[in-house]
Amino acid sequence: MATHKILLLPGDGIGPEVAAEAKKVLKLFEEAGYGSFETETDLVGGAAIDAHGKPVTDAAVALAKDADAVLFGAVGGPKWDKVAYEIRPEAGLLRLRKDLGLFANLRPAICYGALAEASSLKRDLVEDLDILIVRELTGGVYFGEPKEIVTLESGEKRAVDTQIYTTGEIDRIARVAFDLARTRRNKVSSAEKRNVMKSGVLWNQVVTAIHAKDYADVELEHVLADNCAMQLVRKPKQYDVIVCDNLFGDILSDVAAMLTGSLGMLPSASLGAPDAAGRRASLYEPVHGSAPDIAGQGLANPLAMIGSVAMALRYSLGLGEAADKLEAAIGSVLASGARTRDIAPAGANAIGTGEMGDAVVAAL
Ligand code: ATP
Ligand code: MG
Repeated sequence: MATHKILLLPGDGIGPEVAAEAKKVLKLFEEAGYGSFETETDLVGGAAIDAHGKPVTDAAVALAKDADAVLFGAVGGPKWDKVAYEIRPEAGLLRLRKDLGLFANLRPAICYGALAEASSLKRDLVEDLDILIVRELTGGVYFGEPKEIVTLESGEKRAVDTQIYTTGEIDRIARVAFDLARTRRNKVSSAEKRNVMKSGVLWNQVVTAIHAKDYADVELEHVLADNCAMQLVRKPKQYDVIVCDNLFGDILSDVAAMLTGSLGMLPSASLGAPDAAGRRASLYEPVHGSAPDIAGQGLANPLAMIGSVAMALRYSLGLGEAADKLEAAIGSVLASGARTRDIAPAGANAIGTGEMGDAVVAAL
C-alpha cells in the first residue's frame, strides 16, 4: 500500500481548528484503503515564534521538503503584531514558498450549486462554476530589481518597481496550466497586457510557442488582463484555466474568489518544479487567513481547508478519484443545507467547525 507523507502546519488562529477537520478526512481515506497517511505536525507562524523565536525552523522546512504534500492552516494574529518584520508570522510562509520553490499558485473558484444564492452575481452566472486560476508566484513586479523609492535632486521622490520575466519562468508556469487544462475542460486563457507591457509581449510569445509545440490539443486564447477581469464578472463560465503573472494573478484570483461566496470556501495549492523522478514540492492552504475575530470559538468554516486536502489528493498524491469523492461530499453536505455561520443566511441556524467536518466525513 502506498505511503503518503503529509506535513501538517496548522499555524495560528483558526488554522488549528480547520486543520483538525482535515485530519479527520485523511484518517477516513486511510481507513478506506487509499494508502497509509503518515502525518507529521509542526509549528509555523506565531506558534513557532512563541516556541522557537522564529516563524519557521530549519527542521520544519526540512520536513516540508521531504513531504509528499504540506497542509498549511493560517498564520498571524494580533498577538504578534509587534514582532520584528523579518520574523513576523507571515515570513514563515514566505520562507516555505521560497525554499520549496513554489512558483505555481493554483486557485480554483468553485461555486457549489447550493451556495449560488450567496454570490454577488445572478444565480445562473455562477451556479456550478468551476474555474482555475494559475498564478506565477515567484517572479514579476513583486520581486524585480530595482525596487526602490529615491529622492531626486528636485526634492521630488520617485518610486520604482520592476517587472521581469524570463522565457524559462513563463515556460514553466504555462506548462502547469496546459497540463491542468488537459485534466479539466481542455482550455487555457492566457491573460497579460501585451498592448502596453514588454513582459506581456514575451509572455504571449512564449505561451503561443509552447502551445504550438507541445499542447496543440488544448484550446488556447489570449486575453488582455483588464478584459479578463471584466469577463470574470460578466460571464465567468466561459473560462476553464486562466494563466497569468504574479500581479494580475493576485487581482484576478480575488475577483474570481468573490464570485463564489465566502472566503471560508476557497482552497489553494502552490507547486514547485518536478524533479527527475517527477516529484514536486507542494503546499496546500485555504485562501483565508487566521481570522482572529472568530478564532478559538469553533465557528470557522473548515471547507476551504478540506478543499485543500482534495487538491493535495489530486495533484500530489495521485488520488484523483478520492479528490472527486471529497469534492462531491462537500457538495452534498451543502445541498443538505448544512451551513457554518459565514455561509448561512442571516438569522438561519449555523453549525460549528467540528460538525461541518463530521458532516463531510459522514457524506463520504
Ligand atoms: P489574516 O491577516 O491572517 O489574513 P484577517 O484578519 O485578514 O487575518 P481573514 O482570515 O483574512 O482575517 O478573514 C477575514 C474575514 O473573513 C474575518 O472576518 C473572518 O472571520 C472571516 N473568515 C475567514 N476565514 C473564515 C472561515 N474559514 N470561516 C468563517 N469565517 C472566516
Ligand atoms: Mg486576510
